[in-house]
Amino acid sequence: MDSPLSPLAPLPPLQELTHAELATTLRAAGDEGARSTLAEAVMREVYVRATGSIEAMASIGAARRALLARAVAFPRLACEAVEPAADGSTRFAFRLRDGARIESVLLPHHAGSDRHTVCVSSQAGCAQVCRFCATGRLGLTRDLEAWEIVDQVVQVAAHARVRASDIVFMGMGEPLANEVAVYRAARVMTQSHGLQIGARRITISTAGVVPAIHRFIDDAQPFRLVFSLGCADPAKRRRLMPIQERHGFEEFIAAIARYEAHRGHQHVTLEYVAIRNFTMGDDDIAALAALARRGFRFLLNVIPFNPVGDEFEAPTMAEVRAWTSRLRPFGLPVKLRFSGGRDRCAGCGQLGTGLIGARRRHPDRDVSRP
Ligand code: SAH
Repeated sequence: MDSPLSPLAPLPPLQELTHAELATTLRAAGDEGARSTLAEAVMREVYVRATGSIEAMASIGAARRALLARAVAFPRLACEAVEPAADGSTRFAFRLRDGARIESVLLPHHAGSDRHTVCVSSQAGCAQVCRFCATGRLGLTRDLEAWEIVDQVVQVAAHARVRASDIVFMGMGEPLANEVAVYRAARVMTQSHGLQIGARRITISTAGVVPAIHRFIDDAQPFRLVFSLGCADPAKRRRLMPIQERHGFEEFIAAIARYEAHRGHQHVTLEYVAIRNFTMGDDDIAALAALARRGFRFLLNVIPFNPVGDEFEAPTMAEVRAWTSRLRPFGLPVKLRFSGGRDRCAGCGQLGTGLIGARRRHPDRDVSRP
């Protein structure tokens, strides 16, 4: 049996440690001197200078680097591809040590802003099989470990030479199906001397894992939760998002309403996928109006469907604008999301497209933009 001091016990990955945990780990490994300064220096090397290995940490002397190497592991994802898209976003593909592949996307904010969002994956593949999403077609390979989530941000920011200001868990996978690793990774991202991303700038998007939504509230997780409504008609949503067979529509809406109350009745964000001839009808307006009468406040984030497979049609932006304008009489705040990276299949729901070789054209790509 391995004791905690056994040389066979695996070393903790550096990207899974908070600043305080790193300081404790280094102390246990024999760092007697100004130990918290060593922890700070290591955090700066990893997260600010984006140094790729312990040996390359130039601000730390050789003896202390050796101590560090005895105390922690510093595993890295292998970056396989970097593809810039015409709209300024960039898709990154990474290979994991067991051969699984994941993707992340860097999304710059408007011109002149120095804010940059990194969209991260929480699982290799996904088990939710949402019918409009490419990742669902891959099936689930496995959950990511916390360091594999943190390292996506470190590598994306380093490659682009930017500081990540916002994180969205909207890449491959269902984050609330991998809660422990997701919260650990998110917590590491908030660390001072590290990435220093405010907890409220870390957004976790869920397809509706209802018990995990309640746990998020009960444990007072400091991050932001947003909800993939898909569409507001329960029967259609069930077709689009089979997760509803496990966690019913009413249960999901009740969990969202509880979250809204927990957040002091601030608007919660519901993500809506606008699919031509499917979620953009009169009945869909009526279903949304009914939802708006339920008594919790929400903002509808409308995402025009990005082409995946042959089953559904993508609308043009003009069609989406015309449809959303019909929601105005109901006093519903609506935000149209321009999904970045569409020409590189890095838009919402398209991650993994390259992996299954299903690139498709989008109607808006064939018309000149105003
Ligand atoms: N599993 C999580 C996070 C990944 S999906 C979740 O379901 O929330 C992130 C967002 O992209 C979701 O709101 C989803 O509805 C949306 N999305 C997925 N596929 C899409 C597609 N093909 N076109 C537009 N949006 C899509």
